[in-house]
Amino acid sequence: MGDDTATLHMDGIPADTLLKVKKYLDCFHLSLQKLQEVSARLRKDMVRGLGKHSHHRAPVKMLPTFVTAMPDGTEKGDFLALDLGGTNFRVLHVRVVEEEQKVLKMDSQICAIPKEMMLGSGEQLFDHIADCLGDFLVSHNLKEQILPLGFTFSFPCEQKEIDKSILIRWTKGFNCSGVEGEDVVKLLRKAIDRRGDYDIGSVAMVNDTVGTMMSCGYRDQSCEIGMIIGTGTNACYMEEMKNVKRVEGEAGRMCINTEWGGFGDDGSLKDIQTEFDVKVDKMSINPGVHTFEKMISGMYLGEIVRLLLVRLTEEKLLFNGQTSEVLLTPETFETKFISEIEEKEHGLENTQKILTKLGLKWDLVDSRVVRLVCVAISSRSARLCAAALATLANRIRGNRRLDHLKTTVGVDGTVYRKHPNFSDELQSTVRRLAPQCDISYLVSEDGSGKGSAMVTAVAQRLALQSRL
Ligand code: BGC
Ligand code: MG
Repeated sequence: MGDDTATLHMDGIPADTLLKVKKYLDCFHLSLQKLQEVSARLRKDMVRGLGKHSHHRAPVKMLPTFVTAMPDGTEKGDFLALDLGGTNFRVLHVRVVEEEQKVLKMDSQICAIPKEMMLGSGEQLFDHIADCLGDFLVSHNLKEQILPLGFTFSFPCEQKEIDKSILIRWTKGFNCSGVEGEDVVKLLRKAIDRRGDYDIGSVAMVNDTVGTMMSCGYRDQSCEIGMIIGTGTNACYMEEMKNVKRVEGEAGRMCINTEWGGFGDDGSLKDIQTEFDVKVDKMSINPGVHTFEKMISGMYLGEIVRLLLVRLTEEKLLFNGQTSEVLLTPETFETKFISEIEEKEHGLENTQKILTKLGLKWDLVDSRVVRLVCVAISSRSARLCAAALATLANRIRGNRRLDHLKTTVGVDGTVYRKHPNFSDELQSTVRRLAPQCDISYLVSEDGSGKGSAMVTAVAQRLALQSRL
């Protein structure tokens, strides 16, 4: 496939222009050998993160989730779910049906969070969450019930129990005051108390990766990895308890939220960071944090492309050297444009529409160069994700001393779902980096909604069993 697209792109770009453009794109191309090096670094960082004494300073946090069991099919009941930290904030009512082994979404509602609120006070944010939940309960006649709630909170949290979860730091577009270092469940309950007109039952705190794994685990018992490549990126997997030094107990397994987005925060990825990555990091609301995520996820890919386009224009390799005000404005090049531009059939047409929208005067060569830029950025993202995923799969295989591992990854996220080649490139690269692992990919059906209800249901079953 690679060769075909290469000729396609070269077609219609004059050789000398192509050569000059490639000079800027070369630093985004990571060889298989480089990816193997990256994978080896991550492998070491994962061990640091798991260690009792090394985890405090570890860039890859490897957080215990207190999820130790997959659904066994006996779970049932009605649940509420909150989903914060993805593309939308949502409230859901979910029913888990035992006989049919099904998770049904009864109702759900998207509740916008204004950008100012994402950067405002924590109290205001949690009041808003409690209001959205309250309105939902009223309009769906659920206010008089006290339902257990699964809270998909897609940020790194130090979990003490399934219902005690301290926010380590905000990531992505959030930065509310007074929440870092606090127990998120407490903040939610306090906000509900301030309203005083409804109540909730037990709470389970769930990272979106864990919800994704669990929602796929229901369909495929061998699903032991959950991965998100959306606004942010991250993965979780089932680790042997004996390797989880921070939690008592040696038997069985626990799901570990790797928080691989933080990989590189100690400078370990300096050799592959480009000047464009450095710029994106500097201009972000959390400089120095989540280095790996900023090279991969939807929140940042568009911005990397924009910076490159500006640079190529300044070098007179695009648009006759003429930028536009829109192109010079941060965050105007949306990540979804990359998917549209790389679309197989209408890619070129889409590119031209987008360039016009950005106020640029383009010709045919320009639109082909822009597409080349997008391919470079999205394929680096896919290949870096592949390196990280291969590291997890290889680790699971090593843990179990298997020659060959067969496993399933539950996946979600807009980048993975919407980009035309992303999943293909990721999967073929993983095959090369983890040849002894046979991995199936299952796109989760609403892991952040149904999956968190599933985690709550499993937690309830386990609590009940331990009481018997
Ligand atoms: C967060 C993770 C989350 C990921 C995907 C990252 O920024 O730190 O907790 O799983 O985004 O949503
Ligand atoms: Mg989500």
